[in-house]
Amino acid sequence: MDILACPIDKYSPLELHVFEEKEEIVEGLIVCPKCLRWYPIREEIPEMLPDELREEHDEMPFLKKWKDKFPKQILEEGKPFNMKARVKARKNP
Ligand SMILES: [Zn+2]
Repeated sequence: MDILACPIDKYSPLELHVFEEKEEIVEGLIVCPKCLRWYPIREEIPEMLPDELREEHDEMPFLKKWKDKFPKQILEEGKPFNMKARVKARKNP
C-alpha cells in the first residue's frame, strides 16, 4: 500500500497500524506523528480526508471498535476526534 503524506501538513512518512489483514489491509489506522491526526483504513480504503470533510458520528464507531489497538496517545490526543474530547463535550455541551 502506498501511504500518502498527511493532507493537513504534508508530513511523511506516516505510521501504519494494521488491525485486520487478508490479502490487503482490510482495517487499520494511519497516524501522522507530527500533528497527531489519524485516518482510518476501512474496507481496504485509506480515508485521507481533511478535517472539514470528516464526520464525528461516522468515525467514532471506528475508534471505539479498535480502541484496544489504537495507540494510547491517539486515543487521548488524536485529531480530529478522540476519547477525551468526547468526554469533555458531554460534560460541557
Ligand atoms: Zn499531519
